[in-house]
Amino acid sequence: MTNEELWKAVLGQIELSLSKANFITWFKNTSLLEINQGKVLIGVPNGFAKEWLENKYNNHILKALRSLDPSVQNMRCTIALPDTDTKTPRSIDAAIPRESSSFVRKKIIEKPSFTANNISLQQEVFHESSLNSRYTFENYIVAENNELAHAACHAVSQSLGTLYNPLFIYGGVGLGKTHLLQSIGNEVMKNHPEKRIKYITSERFTTELVDSIKNQKIDLFKEYYQQMDLLIIDDVQFLSGREKTQHEFFHIFNALYQINKQIVISSDRPPKAIGTLEERLRSRFEGGMITDISQPSLETRIAILSSKVSERGVFVEEDALRYIAQNINQNVRELEGALNRVIAYCDFRKIPANLSNTEKILNELLEKNRKNISIESVFSTICDYYSVSREELIKKGRKKEISHPRQILMYLLRQELSTPFSSIGDLLGGRDHTTILHAYEKIQNQKESSRKIKEELSQIKERLYYVT
Ligand code: ADP
Ligand code: MG
Repeated sequence: MTNEELWKAVLGQIELSLSKANFITWFKNTSLLEINQGKVLIGVPNGFAKEWLENKYNNHILKALRSLDPSVQNMRCTIALPDTDTKTPRSIDAAIPRESSSFVRKKIIEKPSFTANNISLQQEVFHESSLNSRYTFENYIVAENNELAHAACHAVSQSLGTLYNPLFIYGGVGLGKTHLLQSIGNEVMKNHPEKRIKYITSERFTTELVDSIKNQKIDLFKEYYQQMDLLIIDDVQFLSGREKTQHEFFHIFNALYQINKQIVISSDRPPKAIGTLEERLRSRFEGGMITDISQPSLETRIAILSSKVSERGVFVEEDALRYIAQNINQNVRELEGALNRVIAYCDFRKIPANLSNTEKILNELLEKNRKNISIESVFSTICDYYSVSREELIKKGRKKEISHPRQILMYLLRQELSTPFSSIGDLLGGRDHTTILHAYEKIQNQKESSRKIKEELSQIKERLYYVT
């Protein structure tokens, strides 16, 4: 077997165990350069690929290599630009099954025009199911922050209503919940076009419900939903406090659940933390599978950027990608937005997408997007986030549902606005400044030790600074 043939076979095996986006991002333009006394040298196009192949995929690669050549001991990567007109690109194409190969090729070749994005986006939406064909498992980067959520969604898409029902995915803004939820819908639609699928946000669900009550069509409304094989409700936190909607949702939920129809739900927080959620609804949610998506690490952010770049077939320098990933660290949507902006700007100006241009473009963007915050906006964001009232925050009282938001409020007033401890005490009904100091230090410590607190804080800051 030649090196090329061996590598082709290795890629064929690896592809089966990775998402298409991961596979394309890291294995495109790789080649087997040499095998010398069991030591394998693999050529990769850039430093990121070297890092990932050596650190994250080395076991995958070694396992595949050894199954074909048991004498293989270890492997190492080196940066080697591919031979453009011959072997390497063809070998990866050949490793991808026919049908998906044209899909991948199409995705890589298509260079969407940025201005036309919104229009094409709308056209991609299927009206009955409201699915957007842009969101698939194939173009989702699976990493440590979303591994479980991805596995659960994928499993559900292969076997509706039997494994995890309901499936509940939670995580902060822009971390890829909608993408995963819609991927389930698209996957089912591809494999079982006869299945009835409905994707809807809880806000839209509420509006439709209210309309149907107004038009005396509530029975039709229920009947419609109860015919679904797969019902996907996105951003269910907005049901909080809407009793009538929750009540109707509960009935639809039960009707579907009892006949083993699949329900998938997302939220920005776990069921327990959704304020004023009807108890029986909460316990239904908790009765299924609950899994979260957390913030991606720097490595993963770079992986996502690399995959978006290769999906588009554009070129952005490695340093520039790293810079974007280092500076936009909380939200994949913004990460993508920043990348789009860099690409569009460099394209328009006909300048290279390198580090220094990226720095300039991004610094401008970071400044412009940041909202000015005030004591007032910190208060209202906290009240909104925790569903507590301002009076409750100010009043004396040690109930955890109130004291925790109160401490976060104290912390943020200090941390983000440098408000003196004594003034924070005054704002909170004349509390002593040492109380404020203690709360500040407590949250400061918890931020380091508890992932939950860390995420909570970053979600709140996200709303405070960026969400309009
Ligand atoms: P959420 O619903 O959690 O607010 P979205 O699903 O809308 O977030 O994701 C925001 C954007 O980031 C989308 O364009 C999505 O395609 C992209 N995205 C998020 N996570 C990933 C990932 N792991 N791989 C590829 N794209 C991702
Ligand atoms: Mg969403």
